[in-house]
Amino acid sequence: MSPYLNAAPATAETRLGTRFWIYPQPPFIPGYEQPDRVWLNIPRDEISDGPSDILMYVADPLFDKQPYASGSLPPFTGPCHPPVRAGPDRHFDYLDPQSRSYLGVHAYACVHFVLDVWHSYLERPIAWFFREIYPQLEIVPLVDWQNAQAGYGFLELGYSDIGGTRRPYALNFDSIAHEMGHLISLSETGLPAGLARGDDFFVFSEAFSDCVSLISFLHFDSAIDRLLRRTRGNLLLYNELNRFAETSPETQIRLATNFRRMSEVTREVHDRALPFIGAIFDSIVDAYHFRLVKSGHAEGRLLETDLRDLTAEDFDRFRMLTADAFSSDPLAFKRALVTARDEIGRAMAKSLRMLDPDNLSLEFAARAIVNAAHGHAADRLNENFIWREIIIPS
Ligand SMILES: [Zn+2]
Repeated sequence: MSPYLNAAPATAETRLGTRFWIYPQPPFIPGYEQPDRVWLNIPRDEISDGPSDILMYVADPLFDKQPYASGSLPPFTGPCHPPVRAGPDRHFDYLDPQSRSYLGVHAYACVHFVLDVWHSYLERPIAWFFREIYPQLEIVPLVDWQNAQAGYGFLELGYSDIGGTRRPYALNFDSIAHEMGHLISLSETGLPAGLARGDDFFVFSEAFSDCVSLISFLHFDSAIDRLLRRTRGNLLLYNELNRFAETSPETQIRLATNFRRMSEVTREVHDRALPFIGAIFDSIVDAYHFRLVKSGHAEGRLLETDLRDLTAEDFDRFRMLTADAFSSDPLAFKRALVTARDEIGRAMAKSLRMLDPDNLSLEFAARAIVNAAHGHAADRLNENFIWREIIIPS
């Protein structure tokens, strides 16, 4: 038999990607104790020990490392844990995802997962804003700090300490995806030239990063399945009534289901970011309803009423109809949510190139997202940003 017959499939197989474990939510969150096995879009022969590749590497300090601050930047040159190696099949899912050595691998996998999503929305790779000095992002999976940060050439993760229980952010997809949101938006808009940035730059940056986290999280099949099954397809439960949202185990959903308008928030950056995040989440839900109505799985009236004004009676009727439709065709609901997620995610990604980081207002950023969207999604984004008092109609 010709040797080429064997060689060709082996190469194609290697190019398929690489397997890792990722926890879509930290493993202490009920319902998320088991990680998902994911394929990342990076060929096995392009990952070296560490793991490391052309875009990033893991540096896992052996002793407590202080976070980078002004005057201290990568690379980390102190002693490190030995680089983690792939298994004999060159995948990383042979490792115990709860082991200490997996922390860096998990952070690396989350970074790639988020990049894969946003590469696909942008339809081209993201080039780090720090690439002229650092071609690779340094990922530090554990620093001696109760916080996480991304900066010029690095992403470093500390831990939360609640009642003496330390939980590393390296196992927290939400935190890593949020920090990736900062790196992605800065890489697309470029760094602001001056230090005198307007308030809105920081507010937008926080809001955008939380949306990156939410939309990236919705790329886990298991997350979408859990969300739809728990609500029986009715995302209004999360949105308007807030019954589940307050106790929702997913941080992203807790943040996104808020009713704040710009006239109701303080000057504090994270508080000020809430209306923007809320407008994005509402637009995903609106786009989801639009798809369900189009496919005949929900009533057309759903699109004509302002959902914030639904009476308890209307709401109950809608919930029953949705639950019935969901139990007979759950896949249609999943398709609707995936399409809605991607319509809004793509518009967010494409809006970034229209922004000037030195002259950024929340209203301009919102209008850029509306302009990058199409059809019904664009209309809903516009209306939701108006309701949140971010876009002021002229
Ligand atoms: Zn942030």
